[in-house]
Amino acid sequence: LPNQSDDIPLLALDIGGTLIKLVYFSRREDPLADDQQKKTLKEGQEVSNGSSRSYPIKGGCLHFLKFETRKINECLDFIDSKQLHCGGIYPRCSFEAARNNNAVIKATGGGAYMYANLFKERLGVSLDKEDEMDCLVSGANFLLKAIDHEAFTHMDGQKEFVQIDKNDLFPYLLVNIGSGVSIIKVDGDGSFQRVDGTQAGGGTYCGQGMLLTGCKYSFDELLELSQRGDNKLIDLLVGDIDGKMDYSKIGLSASTIASSFGKVVSEKRELKDYRHEDISLSLLRMISYNIGHIAYLNAKIYGLKRIFFGGYFIRGHACIMDTISYAVDFRSKGAEKAMFLRHDGFLGALGAFMSYEK
Ligand code: ADP
Repeated sequence: LPNQSDDIPLLALDIGGTLIKLVYFSRREDPLADDQQKKTLKEGQEVSNGSSRSYPIKGGCLHFLKFETRKINECLDFIDSKQLHCGGIYPRCSFEAARNNNAVIKATGGGAYMYANLFKERLGVSLDKEDEMDCLVSGANFLLKAIDHEAFTHMDGQKEFVQIDKNDLFPYLLVNIGSGVSIIKVDGDGSFQRVDGTQAGGGTYCGQGMLLTGCKYSFDELLELSQRGDNKLIDLLVGDIDGKMDYSKIGLSASTIASSFGKVVSEKRELKDYRHEDISLSLLRMISYNIGHIAYLNAKIYGLKRIFFGGYFIRGHACIMDTISYAVDFRSKGAEKAMFLRHDGFLGALGAFMSYEK
């Protein structure tokens, strides 16, 4: 852990287009664990509570939580109420103390630039900006090397942890699915190249889902709807085109999606006739499958055997992981498996946190 005076929390931020991710370490408290849990918590055992997770480690606790970027004031209030912006420089945190001591918080993501003035005005602190890709990669490398049971596969609803040999980790492909998608070839600590990306990411699922369903639902609600959806009612399947053909000869089955949303074209129906559950599932499959496919193609181009997926879009959701896994498995003819990270949404924030050590 970075150096830190005794009881002052240390904070880093990843301010993205949709979400602000916070990682902070405190020696004193574990606000998520109740007294009973505190007694039984072992080092490394995680406590989660809705949008927050706490992770007891040597000498204290590492906390992970998120806020919506559009509600940045809630995030500032939280930092203020917990005095997280002291940064180990001085014992008591006030606006004047922070400003007079040139307090800084490590921050990454586009919002680190956009909201720098707001942090100065509200909390008296400066944001010390770290490169977004640097942070993603150092966060992923840290997790993959330091945390047991961090990486896992997820196929057909089955989760299986993967043992990572930290001496044989590189090279690998890191696919970060946030509002948009970044695809990074990682060759070592601090050695990487952003090789590709796509604008159709988590923000696309959310934005398009909202548009098609009358802007009634949040991301979580759209996802929940998708769990009750039937995409056959919207997607054109291979079997819908010619039910009699033997598709196995070309490696397809009748239930393979031939065209996402393609069934709508031939039907004379109105938007209100389609169930929001089905729309959400079709969209989720389309976006997730495409990302898995593009990731596989990049792994092939660069000769990489391992693909790790991160970003807040995934957040442990079975349907998203299964669809990405299916795409990678299908396209690679079973030669490659998609792997996911338990702290998927916090790679950038963790990387910013680690940069205190530089
Ligand atoms: P960014 O850094 O671009 O904000 P993130 O890695 O934070 O990217 O991922 C943002 C994406 O996460 C959203 O586009 C959405 O698809 C997904 N997401 C997951 N949970 C939520 C949530 N509670 N609110 C909004 N988006 C969420």
